Amino acid sequence: MVEAKVGGDAIGAEQEDLFEAPERGSADELLDAGAHSDLDAMRHSAAHVMAEAVMDLFPGTRLGIGPAIADGFYYDFQLPRPLTPDDLAAVHVRMAESIKADHPFVRRELPPAEGRAFFAGRDQPFKVEILDDLAAKAAADGSPMPPTSVYEHGSFVDLCKGPHVASTGAIGPFKLLSVAGAYWRGDEKRPMLQRIYGTVWPTQEELERFLWRREEARKRDHRRLGVQLDLYSFHDVSPGAAFWHPKGWTLYRTLENAMRELQARRGYQEIYTPPLVARKLWEQSGHWDLYREHMFLFESEGQTFSLKPMNCPESTYVYRSRVRSYRDLPLRLAEYGKLHRNELSGTLSGLTRVRHFVTDDAHIYLRPDQIGSEIEALLGEVRESYSWVGLSPKLTFGTRPDKALGDPALWERAEGLIREALDRSGAEYRVKPKDGAFYAPKIDIQVEDALGREWQTATIQVDLVMLPERFDLWYIDEHGQQQRPVAIHRAIYGSLERFIGVITEHFAGAFPLWLAPVQAVIIPIADRHADAADELAGVLRERGLRVEVDHSDNRMQNKIRLAQEQKVPYMPVLGDREVEARVAAVRKRSGEQEQGVGWDDLAARLAAEAAERRVD
Ligand SMILES: [Zn+2]
Ligand SMILES: [Zn+2]
Repeated sequence: MVEAKVGGDAIGAEQEDLFEAPERGSADELLDAGAHSDLDAMRHSAAHVMAEAVMDLFPGTRLGIGPAIADGFYYDFQLPRPLTPDDLAAVHVRMAESIKADHPFVRRELPPAEGRAFFAGRDQPFKVEILDDLAAKAAADGSPMPPTSVYEHGSFVDLCKGPHVASTGAIGPFKLLSVAGAYWRGDEKRPMLQRIYGTVWPTQEELERFLWRREEARKRDHRRLGVQLDLYSFHDVSPGAAFWHPKGWTLYRTLENAMRELQARRGYQEIYTPPLVARKLWEQSGHWDLYREHMFLFESEGQTFSLKPMNCPESTYVYRSRVRSYRDLPLRLAEYGKLHRNELSGTLSGLTRVRHFVTDDAHIYLRPDQIGSEIEALLGEVRESYSWVGLSPKLTFGTRPDKALGDPALWERAEGLIREALDRSGAEYRVKPKDGAFYAPKIDIQVEDALGREWQTATIQVDLVMLPERFDLWYIDEHGQQQRPVAIHRAIYGSLERFIGVITEHFAGAFPLWLAPVQAVIIPIADRHADAADELAGVLRERGLRVEVDHSDNRMQNKIRLAQEQKVPYMPVLGDREVEARVAAVRKRSGEQEQGVGWDDLAARLAAEAAERRVD
């Protein structure tokens, strides 16, 4: 979610909630305007117009890059001083003038030497650096340096491959949103530039809808809610990893245990394998060649070890611990292993971009003839578990990527089997060519949250290569012959950290009863009701409910307000009448109230509602 980089910020360090702005390091990435659609072309064109305005206001500005991104655009500038909100207003006015003037965007090509001289002459060292990198790369490849492509509108000229809209007049309603610090090329040893984010839409209505969505997302930000609801926190001693507080950990374990319960019904068995593993395992699995840059590595006694970035290969040791017969399959091995992936610290954010996480992972070993029915059952697992949080999953089928392990014929077979199972299940799905894992074609599951944002969560991968071939797995068939099993990798929530980040924002912290870390806060009106409140808490806890009693000196209305702020689903209130009759006045988070509910009745009702795992 929050992937924009934020550094020293003169305007207030509000992070950009809806933007995805991955680091761009190589010259090719720096030249990519991100303009892959007409809307993107308009957004990137707005970035040029913004750069024109900033150059006008701040002579001597040095330009970084200005691509289109999800929902908008940015441009990075090296400026004589930090920008203020007044500056943004002035930039806005200049941009509006340029748009009104309707300058055409004109593409020109300069011979390489002339192009370099042009930007050097204008004191644009970042542009010159990009051109020098391209020249170095061309020389290394033995290919000729391509001409320098520039786009011009009015008096502004930028190094750019395009595409652009026809003229500045084609740029729709826009708004400048914020300023953040961003290192040149994402490298903290290079200069920190000032990045201005903006958004632009074809119509005013779309712009307003986006601004509403952005504001709503800010209020629901899971990092903000994590503090407010005392769920988790983040500390610089462990970048990209959450410190789970009691309430957050309760939420975590509740989700995990719900999945354990589903898995038990489906015949899974849980295993646990070591997080620290020798390099040779990753060489055998193929991760060493294809994934090493994302692994944390250590030396000990002359051997290289890594913290595991995934559980997959180690499950084969459990599989191979005994001879497996065709009757033993499918063998479903679940594992909540602790995983570490070495993501750049600048890209880390809350629970949604982390270095440390746990997935509800499983490796299912099965006979080829069982693939279809197993995938159908897995799609059922997906439907069930997403109904617990009221989200409808969408499926994407990713096929063989260019960087893939194993025999293309095996890939074709696995893809055919997945397609068949998907078609038979009647589920709607879209196909994303070349989007498979490097070892398996896959079904990815996305959900759309309450704000219409799409999140990638679950995955089902049919692996005929990495685990079965590379780890030489076999089972004995009905004729006593050795056969290769198939391995399905599956995670339904995906990363629990990410899933919790997503549902925290989806529910704006008001979790359904079954998930709520505190399901009821009992409110004694006066001191003399305190013992009865403790007694009622005991009755509710007896039924497995998570209950607190507010023993503070606050008045009743304040106690209710505090419980409401903590988004607690039920608030049973006890006064003289209630204590005497062993009943409670029950207030719900929604504001509904019910008088005179018997204690045992309340306990039974809440326990039944929680057991249903539904969204109220
Ligand atoms: Zn451009
Ligand atoms: Zn796996």
